[in-house]
Amino acid sequence: MFDNLSERLGGVVKKLRGQGRLTDQNIKDATREVRMALLEADVALPVVRSFVDQVKEKALGEEVAKSLTPGQVLVKIVHDELVALMGEANEALDLAAQPPAVIMVAGLQGSGKTTSVAKLARWLRQSRKKSVSVVSCDVYRPAAIDQLRTLAAEVEADFFPSTGDQRPLDIARAALEHARRQHKDVLIVDTAGRLHVDERMMDEIKALHAGINPVETLFVVDSMTGQDAANTARAFDQALPLTGVILTKTDGDARGGAALSIRQITGKPIKFLGVGEKTAALEPFHPERMASRILGMGDVLSLVEEVQSKVDHEKTQKLARKLQKGKGFDLEDFRDQMEQMANMGGLGAMMDKLPGMNEVPDHVKSQVNDKEITRSIAIVNSMTPKERRFPNIIKGSRKRRIASGSGVQVQDVNKLLKQFAQMQKMMKKMKGGGMAKMMRGLKGRLGGPGGFPPGGMPPGGGGGFPF
Ligand code: GDP
Ligand code: MG
Repeated sequence: MFDNLSERLGGVVKKLRGQGRLTDQNIKDATREVRMALLEADVALPVVRSFVDQVKEKALGEEVAKSLTPGQVLVKIVHDELVALMGEANEALDLAAQPPAVIMVAGLQGSGKTTSVAKLARWLRQSRKKSVSVVSCDVYRPAAIDQLRTLAAEVEADFFPSTGDQRPLDIARAALEHARRQHKDVLIVDTAGRLHVDERMMDEIKALHAGINPVETLFVVDSMTGQDAANTARAFDQALPLTGVILTKTDGDARGGAALSIRQITGKPIKFLGVGEKTAALEPFHPERMASRILGMGDVLSLVEEVQSKVDHEKTQKLARKLQKGKGFDLEDFRDQMEQMANMGGLGAMMDKLPGMNEVPDHVKSQVNDKEITRSIAIVNSMTPKERRFPNIIKGSRKRRIASGSGVQVQDVNKLLKQFAQMQKMMKKMKGGGMAKMMRGLKGRLGGPGGFPPGGMPPGGGGGFPF
């Protein structure tokens, strides 16, 4: 999702590069382009207007600090506005009710209700350790009930059977009674949709809602319908008190207008994204992460979490202390870093998530591959401890010995030494901030412990953006 928007906003920032400060003129130009980008993403017009006004107002009032560029400042402003637009934080499902907590889904035909019921059941069972019953009140299409039966079996949810000759409200009440007797934590009620919002459907679903009093009433809507999604959501919300939205089919939507319009138009939070046809393809919606993704910061937050869970913290801190004491970064440290990188699924996996990487051409990315990591580790392993500590002594005959020891060519050893030298240089610079600063900023927002990158960086301060 958001591929196009991402690209457009990236372009806006690029244009600001090389300009010393924010001026009335470049703010005007930039916000005009932000406006175009949002309209192209099919964001609803009132939302675009207020968004652009906010950005402009904030940009005009912004002092551009010496250490920042206008591009960085604008990215920060746009990022914060995107987060605000999408609702600040993830809103979790509210299941605080006398069990079974009833969740009802509503939406147009084909929006993905039945699929989402199964996805939710799976998610609740696996991530929340809940026991879940599901029931279909879609009595108009016999296949709909069977569809849910099949999906329920797949996600191992209890399926309460229903038939096409029953009344939806009777089905829902019987299912509630059943779930209560079975001591289920949650009952999810699937409903019938229509092609368009129509009165009979609304009346039926209103009666159903009143009859079972769900603690969550989730509106399921197809992301590809763009700003119409927000309008349909509003129509449903006038009939039913919606508690949230599941935005489906985001995997096929390159524009993202629905995600950016729904909150402001309806006041209701997006709680989940459907990201594929499979029953595991459901993600809680995080406005912050989404905004970062839109701005091409990659999925930095996921990366940080991943790094935190896999990095060897002891080694990380040892290196940080060592560098702080003014001791150099040597080949042993370099090898440790590569080993940790390999542990994290290799460079390729990491690079895709790093900020700015969408600007790195693929042929460059593919140069750093995992085979190379393994080979580099082997080369370092063929060195003596002294060579690892004092790489400068590695000359002709030592190089040949190391190469044959690790089964590579001398030029590979040269290449590794060159990479090491670059890394060493970078490490020295990092003492002043740079990447470490950025990661610290992000981590600060996450509030977790841990370090980045693998191998550790000396402490810096503050936050920043990779532009
Ligand atoms: P309902 O009529 O609202 O119950 O919609 P269904 O659950 O039957 O889904 C309609 C179609 O959309 C099915 O083919 C689903 O596989 C598909 N679908 C639902 N959610 C997603 C999603 O997040 N991504 C993709 N790619 N397809 C989805
Ligand atoms: Mg259905």
